[in-house]
Amino acid sequence: MDALLITIDGPAGAGKTTVSRRLAARLGYRYIDTGALYRGVALAASRAGVAPDDDRALADLCRGLRLTFRGSGEGGQRLFLREEDVTDLIRTPEISLLASGISARPVVRGFLLELQRELGRAKRAVFEGRDMGTVVFPGADVKFYLDAEPGERARRRFTESAAATGQSLESVAADMDRRDRQDRSRPVAPLKPAPDAIRVDSTGLSIDGVVDCMLAHIAARRAGV
Ligand code: C5P
Repeated sequence: MDALLITIDGPAGAGKTTVSRRLAARLGYRYIDTGALYRGVALAASRAGVAPDDDRALADLCRGLRLTFRGSGEGGQRLFLREEDVTDLIRTPEISLLASGISARPVVRGFLLELQRELGRAKRAVFEGRDMGTVVFPGADVKFYLDAEPGERARRRFTESAAATGQSLESVAADMDRRDRQDRSRPVAPLKPAPDAIRVDSTGLSIDGVVDCMLAHIAARRAGV
């Protein structure tokens, strides 16, 4: 059980990105941020003037899309839309909401499903998302569902993004709540824990505390416990 595929799902602001990145670094694995792929499709849709509920136009858009991750190490992976580095452009509040909107469309999920499975073929990776353990990699070696109390999640998001977006805490909390409700209630691949996921609540825990807890579960799984 040497090369593992590890999944981390959960709502916005639970600490998934920081934890997934650090866990991957500790294991010497690749870190794959699948939310960035949905954001990449959202950016392309916004530029092309495609409405989030126009399935035919979304299908055409996806057919012509080329999204790739490049680079690694300290700076993390960068997302490219064809030859353009869009890593920073996909982090705006508008793209966050649009990504949540288009991610409810089966045509977009189907397109990204193949891409994600291809990225996971070699294992030795930590995949972060909403449906990693339930839909994309139901056979993943170790699955985590990371959650935290809503107030704490909003505060964390606010601390991370307020300087860049100028949003107030109330506005960050309202956006997050709207996005979570959309993600949890969509009929296709809704956000929920896989039945065999290990649930971790990061409220009041440090990042290293969460990562250590996950490493202990991974070691136990390796030892066949
Ligand atoms: O993780 P992040 O907040 O960047 O994801 C942006 C949006 O992409 C989420 O709100 C969610 O709607 C969607 N998403 C998804 N499935 C994933 C990853 C992200 O539906 N595996």
